[in-house]
Amino acid sequence: MKIVVLKFGGTSVGSIKRINKVAEIVISYIKKKYKVIVVSSAMSGITNDLIKKSKEISQNFNKEEYDVLVSSGEQMSCSLIAGRLNHLGYNSRSWMGWQIPIITNEVHTSSRIIDIYKSKILNYIKKGGIPVVTGFQGININQRITSLGRGGSDATAIMIAKFFKAKKCVIYTDVDGVYTTDPVIYKKASKIKVISYEEMLEMASLGAKVMQPLSIQDARLNRVNINVKSSFLKKEGTLITKKKNILNNKIIRGISFTKNDAKVTLVGVKDKPGIAASIFKPFHQNLINVDMVVQNISANGKETDLTFTIKLDDLNKTVKLIKRNKSINYRNINVDKNVSKVSIVGVGMVTTPGVTYRMFSALARTNINILVISTSEIKISVLINKKNLKKSITALHKEFKLDK
Ligand code: ADP
Ligand code: ASP
Ligand code: MG
Repeated sequence: MKIVVLKFGGTSVGSIKRINKVAEIVISYIKKKYKVIVVSSAMSGITNDLIKKSKEISQNFNKEEYDVLVSSGEQMSCSLIAGRLNHLGYNSRSWMGWQIPIITNEVHTSSRIIDIYKSKILNYIKKGGIPVVTGFQGININQRITSLGRGGSDATAIMIAKFFKAKKCVIYTDVDGVYTTDPVIYKKASKIKVISYEEMLEMASLGAKVMQPLSIQDARLNRVNINVKSSFLKKEGTLITKKKNILNNKIIRGISFTKNDAKVTLVGVKDKPGIAASIFKPFHQNLINVDMVVQNISANGKETDLTFTIKLDDLNKTVKLIKRNKSINYRNINVDKNVSKVSIVGVGMVTTPGVTYRMFSALARTNINILVISTSEIKISVLINKKNLKKSITALHKEFKLDK
């Protein structure tokens, strides 16, 4: 059986007109003799609105109920797609995660799929039906509905492709592929034909929203090839695959950035063993993710300044935790909300010397001050003032010859 998984994102199902277009795409695969499993996100804006409502009810909205609420948008879009396919004479129906069932772990708000029961869907497609499956949701061992984290429909599609041994997994979205940087922000970004799981994972984790990072981990682990395509334009997209399938390894594959970070500096912290651990312990206990960290020793060697970044959403809570922390002494606390993290990503940097220098000198030539630096094997990130974001993307894109 030639199975294909087609996933449609929020903008692609954002209006009735677009849902009609989705049905046309699905039918084009049916005509090529594919058995199609459709996965859909909620119509654009719906999930955001549901999250807003939960916050209006309570800042501590119950996690189990949060998952029931935020995953409800997918029910609506799936029934509309199935309804349109029915209207056009095709046998189709919607499937909620729990009806299949798609089994996830017990974590709420960012669960991972651990199993998918195949028999009902297999019977259905064998009889010629087109199942339209809700992305982003599953059910756990406690029979509670779970959700897979923002952008989680990507993970649903990839795991369905894995369990059903699909020939293809196509992610239809509002851009026609993965670009060297967000093409909506930077017009000269060029489309990447093929990208490795490793590079895509870094780019996504560092801010490229086009794919959900956890879904790329699932794809890499299960060796699922992914095609990213536009649901509006008939153009070749991007293939996400294993490193071995890629011949032309560029030094830098792409540039990612964030706009939702905050920088915190504790000035004049008494320097003694274990101090960093005492500062970060309450963050860990409160599930606050600390990202970049830098520590400077002061001139007298007795004090240190500790700078770190966190998500802007966590800032108020973080400052409260610091102020409440009786086991640390510091003179001052400075907070900066106007920061962006810009990262260059590429497996080629492992074997190419001088990449760090080129990045820093390109930024220096453009008069951009670097606030914090962090690196890993295939990425270099710098924290800069948010107002310099566009300038820095332009400079780095030029430096690494990524313009189209
Ligand atoms: P969907 O609703 O289809 O899942 P998303 O909004 O999650 O779509 O992801 C698509 C968006 O990702 C694009 O509109 C684009 O602005 C953004 N994006 C960020 N970085 C990149 C990149 N490197 N390449 C392509 N798109 C990117
Ligand atoms: N609707 C969900 C969200 O907005 C899942 C997805 O779009 O993939 O995050
Ligand atoms: Mg998405």
